Amino acid sequence: MAKYIFITGGVVSSLGKGISGASIGKLLQLHGFKVSMIKFDPYINVDPGTMNPYQHGEVFVTIDGAESDLDLGTYERFLDIYTSKANTNTAGDIYQTVINMERRGDYDGATVQVIPHITDEIKKRFAALKDDCDISIIEIGGTVGDIESLPFMEAARQFQLENKKEDIFSIHVTLVPYIAGARELKTKPTQHSVNKLREIGISPDMIICRTEHRLDESLKRKISLFCNVKEDYVIEALDSPSIYYIPEALYRQDVDSLIIERLNIKPKKKFDETWFAKIKAAARFNKKVKIAVVGKYADLKDAYKSIDESLNIAAAELSAKAEVHYLGAEDKNLIEKLKSYNAVLVPGGFGSRGIEGKIESITYARENKIPFLGICLGMQCSVIEVARNLAELKGANSTEFNENTKYPVIKILDEQKNIRYRGSTMRLGNYKSEVKKNTLAYNLYKTVEIEERHRHRYEMNPEFIDILEKAGLFVSAYHKGMLPEIIEMKNHPFFVGVQFHPEFGSRPMKAHPLFKGFIDAALKNAEK
Ligand code: GLN
Repeated sequence: MAKYIFITGGVVSSLGKGISGASIGKLLQLHGFKVSMIKFDPYINVDPGTMNPYQHGEVFVTIDGAESDLDLGTYERFLDIYTSKANTNTAGDIYQTVINMERRGDYDGATVQVIPHITDEIKKRFAALKDDCDISIIEIGGTVGDIESLPFMEAARQFQLENKKEDIFSIHVTLVPYIAGARELKTKPTQHSVNKLREIGISPDMIICRTEHRLDESLKRKISLFCNVKEDYVIEALDSPSIYYIPEALYRQDVDSLIIERLNIKPKKKFDETWFAKIKAAARFNKKVKIAVVGKYADLKDAYKSIDESLNIAAAELSAKAEVHYLGAEDKNLIEKLKSYNAVLVPGGFGSRGIEGKIESITYARENKIPFLGICLGMQCSVIEVARNLAELKGANSTEFNENTKYPVIKILDEQKNIRYRGSTMRLGNYKSEVKKNTLAYNLYKTVEIEERHRHRYEMNPEFIDILEKAGLFVSAYHKGMLPEIIEMKNHPFFVGVQFHPEFGSRPMKAHPLFKGFIDAALKNAEK
């Protein structure tokens, strides 16, 4: 059985199509269906790996090493699944595949065109996971009417034509804006957006209306009438204090049963409502903890989306609320500001901007026994910090920031230079490592063998391990006994640097052990 739910968006971007899709996926999963979600981004970049996080938010890394859109993180967290390369597609990637085929002569002399060649490739990818699940939810990025998204919409139209009506359900997510002066919600943008979609040949089965105020019956009736969608299928999506409350809000409007009925499928188990209660219970807290994230993109939460989620999820499991603030690493008063926080996290990143500020924050956390978690670049900065300030390796650095440093404590190792994956030299995706017993890392993971996602070029230079360990640092996990994966500091309540990205492994009610340990240490620090 292959069923498909298509999600398109209209009026404006950032309406939360990913969250709507993931919430519907969650409801269907609670009915016992196996759900997968596939994202289609209409931009020309082959993947978001090279895109500025200011524009695109964080790059989410799948276990098989795809650098993808942050919506894949939303899918993984809502559905508690693992996504892969097949779950993320871009126009660039699709065109590249088609052009490569053309160069190979696969089209046998034909003129290669958007229709049918690009649309055929898109359709192939719509169906990529059909054998692995009961329902594929396909999210088409961008907004209806964009030039970029046209081939995707066209492919969706053809796909409808080529499949049974009862196998496809189409959802359009729009905005119903509130005009304060008139004190009125306006349906016109939704009408125009649906008209645009129908011009392309897609009639939505359901309209999800993002709104700041409740949609009354007359408004729903109006949308129904003008958009040719049954009234029950006009769904209100009110702004919500937590994205994890959205599945319940949709459930209360029968979104799941309406879809199940249209797709002509039978739930595989009794619907499990306890998930809603668990989510609400997790939001209760009786203490607060203040966490400083010292990074390059201080004013953009989306750039550290999975870290933010991980901190909140871990805090929730400890009945606490994490107040997470993003501090710019170049802020002149950084250290002064850090004094009002219970813990310091230095996230991953690329390039030299803000490095010295990050290193200074680590000195502050180390000397004052403030819990510290360094992720990827954050870990590399902590190695530089210890090298400079405890091991007396003056001017120690990563060759990413100073190629000629006398003490390259972080560098590109020779074997790293040979890694070629999707055209880059990065270590990407899951790698195993072995955690040493009697370490903080082991106490948290409670297991020797771990597997975590990577996205980096540089590594801790094994030549310096001895001297750094003599200075108080300790390598508590290695990949293949060779590449340092986790470092700790002796005589510190919580000082952990990890070469990988644990933030991609957190799920609601299943906090990642490192984040849980970090928040726990921060809470203990707050009590002092
Ligand atoms: N820039 C560093 C490297 O390439 C760290 C990357 C990261 O933090 N993801 O190794």
